[in-house]
Parts: sequence; C-alpha cells; structure tokens
Amino acid sequence: MTFSREVIRELLAGSTKQRLALKETYAQLPSTRCRRRTHCCSLLPEMSLVEALTAVQLLVDMVPGQRRQLSSRMIHYFFLNPVEILMCPFLENQECLIYQDRFLGCRAYGLWSKGYYQQQAEHSRQAKGLSQEQWQRLGVSLPQAVVDFHLPYCPYVEVEGEVPVDDEHLLHASDTIEAISGQLAPWHDSFRQRYLSDLSFLLVSNVLGSQEAIQLKFEIVRDFLSNGKKERLAKIVEDIFDKLDDFFEDLKS
Ligand code: SF4
Repeated sequence: MTFSREVIRELLAGSTKQRLALKETYAQLPSTRCRRRTHCCSLLPEMSLVEALTAVQLLVDMVPGQRRQLSSRMIHYFFLNPVEILMCPFLENQECLIYQDRFLGCRAYGLWSKGYYQQQAEHSRQAKGLSQEQWQRLGVSLPQAVVDFHLPYCPYVEVEGEVPVDDEHLLHASDTIEAISGQLAPWHDSFRQRYLSDLSFLLVSNVLGSQEAIQLKFEIVRDFLSNGKKERLAKIVEDIFDKLDDFFEDLKS
C-alpha cells in the first residue's frame, strides 16, 4: 500500500484524535535532564505511524527556510545512511527542532535499564546484520564501522520530579502508542512493513515513488563506495528538493 500525497492528507485530517492521544501518552513520561551530548541523535529513530504523521504536520507548519534545510538533511539521510553515520535530520546546531514532540525512542533513551537496553541493542544488531546481507546479495559491502555502529547506553539522563519510570512504564507507553497508531489501520502496518518505520523513506518515496527511491539509493551507495563521490546525490537533491517542499506546501491546503 502506497502512501500517496492524498493518503497522507487524509491521514493527517483523520488522525487529530490519535495525535492528541500520543501527546497525552508522552506527557505521562517524566521530564528529563541530560548533558545534551546528543549521542542519542546520531540516528533518525524508528517510529510508529502516528509519530511520523505528527512529524509531517510539524514540517508542514515549519517556517519555509528552516523546513528547506531540514528537507535537505532528510534527503541526504535517506540516501547515505547505509554508508555514513549521519545525525538525525531534526538536529540543528546541537538542538532538536521538534524537542517538545520528539519521538518515544528519543524520550526513552537513557531511561531504560542497562539490561533491557542491551537486549534491544542485540535485536538492532541482528536487524542490521540482515540488512547488510541484503546489500551483499546486491554486490555491495557496507562499511563495517557503519554496520557495527550502535548508540551506546547513556547513564547521564536524570529524571525530574516524582513521576516513576522503569522498563515497565516505558513498555506500557510503547504499547499504548502502538495501540493508538494501530487505530490508523491498515496504514499503521503498512508504514512499518513497506517503509520500515523510516520517515526519510516515506518522504523521499512520496516525491520519487518507492521503487525509484530504492533503486536510486542502491546506485548512490554503490557509486559512493566505489569512488567516494557524491555528485550524483547532489544532482538528485537539487532535482527533488523543490518537489519535497511542494509536497509540504500542498499538504497545507
Ligand atoms: S528527533 Fe530530536 S531528540 Fe530525537 S534523535 Fe532527532 S534530534 Fe534527537
């Protein structure tokens, strides 16, 4: 199932209740303080559909200059994340542009117990191993440093106030968000299965089409690994940049 522009427009219009419930779920998590080293922002987190729609609405409402810079980072992120550790596109000058609405993955980072975090890291390692095998079948060997990269466990996050938090609370929040997002069936599952819960893929696909986005990504990664050059990407960014901005403008109307 493809997330055409019309589908996204209808999902935005029809998900007000779910996006509000998402905010209420976030509000039950404690506020935190940290050293803002932004290690946790080394990746665009995986997210549920309701979180992705919240981010799309924020992009639609953003001032155009800021959105254009973010769109450029989002496009780069989509095409180059298999070969470089790129920071999350929402990070600008060491600040999160959507901090009040950041995803559950961002909020929970540093709050999980070390044991649970390591279990999740192991799942993520296995998923990356599978992805690496798929690239290898296409004749592409991804840089080992990127394949092996994992966000380290963060011991520096401090909880403010009296709201209790442990793995159980975080899992409950995660299940609640899944259930809220699941109300947007069948698109909730489609975002996970077809777009791998990746907002950058959803946005680039909307401009290029998902098959073409995948094909281009393969060619850019292959070219980059063979000659270290990004000219092709620069040309593509130039070509689709305005289209992505049109996409956001179009969703306003
Ligand atoms: S959304 Fe914000 S907090 Fe989350 S990874 Fe990106 S920049 Fe960091």
